[in-house]
Amino acid sequence: MKEKNVNVLETAQKQVKQACDKLATDPAVYEILKNSMRTLEVSIPVRMDDGSVKSFIGYRAQHNDAIGPFKGGVRFHQNVNMDEVKALATWMTFKCGVMGVPYGGGKGGVIVDPFQLSEGEMERLARGYARAVAPIVGEKIDIPAPDVGTNGQLMAWMVDEHHKTTGKFEPGAYTGKPVSFYGSLARTEATGYGIANIAKNAAEKLGMDISKSTIALQGFGNVGSFTAKYIDELGGKIVAVADHTAGLYNSQGFDIPALAEYAREHRCIKGFTGYESEFPKEEIITYDVDILLPCALENVITVNNANDIKAKLITEGANGPTTIEADEILNKRGILVVPDILANAGGVTVSYFEWVQNLMRYSWTFDEVQQKQEDSMLKAFNDIWNLKEEHGVSMRMAAYMMAIKRVADAMKLRGWY
Ligand code: NAD
Repeated sequence: MKEKNVNVLETAQKQVKQACDKLATDPAVYEILKNSMRTLEVSIPVRMDDGSVKSFIGYRAQHNDAIGPFKGGVRFHQNVNMDEVKALATWMTFKCGVMGVPYGGGKGGVIVDPFQLSEGEMERLARGYARAVAPIVGEKIDIPAPDVGTNGQLMAWMVDEHHKTTGKFEPGAYTGKPVSFYGSLARTEATGYGIANIAKNAAEKLGMDISKSTIALQGFGNVGSFTAKYIDELGGKIVAVADHTAGLYNSQGFDIPALAEYAREHRCIKGFTGYESEFPKEEIITYDVDILLPCALENVITVNNANDIKAKLITEGANGPTTIEADEILNKRGILVVPDILANAGGVTVSYFEWVQNLMRYSWTFDEVQQKQEDSMLKAFNDIWNLKEEHGVSMRMAAYMMAIKRVADAMKLRGWY
């Protein structure tokens, strides 16, 4: 079947190329932006609980720092590879560009199934990663954060290891930290909060009311569970949920606080009893709902299922959930897709607020942070919507056009081309 092994780096490069062509930028712009400026591959030996030593492969990609320090998460997942890390770093450059935060794009990852490690092994791996990337990480150089398989506790260990390795105490070198250790209020919630609000605004543009809409949600980790919380607060009815263990349906809408509590404790949704029926987890994408929220991993909307999607609106919580060819099908079918680089930008936006607070050794209240996030995301949403209308392009194309122009302008002023 076509599109079986879609390379996400090629997807990211094509997205950038299409927008550069549309903007008719100097050819140098795409020449610079198609590659990461710097990449690092490391081997991280970890003492396992049984006394053996296992070596894990880790990566960091630094895509572009024309606007500011590199910024982007660290993923712990068994399918991590260099091309994926480079693609995610590329998307970060443009996500920061969309939001106008003063960063470039970076990303990291380790090939590991975190579900197979004990807490002690996770700590030693996180510390090993921080030691290995310390020469190219710092609060004015490159600022990692949590992504799939990592969390605030791991960021705290990484800050500690960075301190021990470099002799510099730089809490702002990592974001997404626990609130009691230089984290920001409203950071853990930020990505999901943004996705829920963006979905509401996009639904309104289509004349839909989120409180009267049915919703299918893929992924119930950090991003998915907080997206669910805020969708629930907006009155949206989540009738289908899937994660890596199960697909569950409830025609009445799930009891989201109960599901979130269950998922926190068990790290999955399988075994939760508040559902009516089960379905194969891949079928979440084509569920008969008004709104689809992919909040798990990339390449889940492909040529193989794009024609069967019933939702009228897709808000991309995950990075890169839609392949290029699937995107064309969705556009032709008139399904509105709010792209990842806008929809899930709440995480990097509040990471930026966390970093500002760290540099100032100051802290804002939960409501202050959430209000700042909401204001900046609403502005980005409206700017991109207007650009889409003006040029008759998709929201994804409009978002890339806006971001690439900002990065290209900075590169020009710095004399890079
Ligand atoms: P996470 O590790 O907390 O959760 C990942 C979720 O995906 C889990 O619920 C897991 O069960 C699910 N999943 C994995 N494989 C699946 C499959 N085959 N089918 C269905 N579900 C599957 O990770 P996260 O932080 O929630 O990140 C999710 C996505 O959001 C990623 O694409 C990530 O890059 C992106 N993202 C995260 C943040 C952030 O702040 N954490 C910010 C922006 C974007």
